[in-house]
Amino acid sequence: MTVTVPKTTPAPTALVIFSPPTSSAAAGPPPPQPSNAPPAPGTSKSVKEDNHKDEEDDAEETGDGGDDDGFRQPKLRLEIRDLDHPGAAKFLDAVNAGKILSVAVGNVQRLLYWSPAEPHTTMPKTRSVTIILRDMGGVAYTTGTKLIKKTSPSSSQNFNFVQVSGVINISRVRVPHETKSPYKKTDLDSDHKEIHFSLGYINGISPASRLTAEITGVLTHELVHCYQWDAKGTCPGGLVEGIADWVRLNCDLSPPHWKRETAGEWDRGYQHTAYFLDYIENRFGAGSVRRINEKLRRHKYNVKPFWTELLGRPVEQLWQDYVEKQSKENEKC
Ligand SMILES: [Zn+2]
Repeated sequence: MTVTVPKTTPAPTALVIFSPPTSSAAAGPPPPQPSNAPPAPGTSKSVKEDNHKDEEDDAEETGDGGDDDGFRQPKLRLEIRDLDHPGAAKFLDAVNAGKILSVAVGNVQRLLYWSPAEPHTTMPKTRSVTIILRDMGGVAYTTGTKLIKKTSPSSSQNFNFVQVSGVINISRVRVPHETKSPYKKTDLDSDHKEIHFSLGYINGISPASRLTAEITGVLTHELVHCYQWDAKGTCPGGLVEGIADWVRLNCDLSPPHWKRETAGEWDRGYQHTAYFLDYIENRFGAGSVRRINEKLRRHKYNVKPFWTELLGRPVEQLWQDYVEKQSKENEKC
């Protein structure tokens, strides 16, 4: 079979992307929250404060979202490298892998894209996703053919430090680099993704009632990396990770310890950026994150025009607005 690699829209270079450790308490995942498809970009009335320029002019591609019956579904595979590992038994007891994965893929596709029939819906051609449960450090990572680029010192710093979650006692370590993957780069093309998920991490999820939600949450986060765009490899890691956790948040799979924090910059990544994106989604209308993702498909990332064209103001101003709104809400409490 010939593998078609898009020439003008390289698949996301989300290749070594890390999942933060999350943890503790709460029941299994509630049903997904499908969002209503807003009007297409350029015709959107849902963007209340938007003076962004219409990008129809450089829409050189046709939609590749699937067919009229729905988004194109990938072949899903599960590989358990060590059935004797206690994490393997916990995984198999906690989830129906086929079911949660197909639901998670559907959620990711729906939250990142309008609909297969919508001309602005162009998804990466992710043909297969293989979940590999194995004994490794860290939590999880997703591979393809390219390495994620380090962006700014501040955002790469986020992903280099070893952090220890106080709740679950699992270290967040920089997951082994792709070169240490058992696969060489040439074994897979970017249409075929692998999600490596740590059996040790699964084994450490506590309390046990969190297993289903945590496993589903981590897999949902990693599946976003299989479907999101990354500005041809130029998107800041913090935004890539923020979008992944925004999807997780919108599937009601946020772990109990997540909270809205306003310290630092907007692009610290993970839930920190996810809650900021949620503020943007609420302020500018449903589909705003889809529009961010779509813009990351079309253009290399250049911070100032990216945000001002999309939302009419610089991201620093949006972040300031968000910080002020949060501090007012905190005062009320
Ligand atoms: Zn990630």
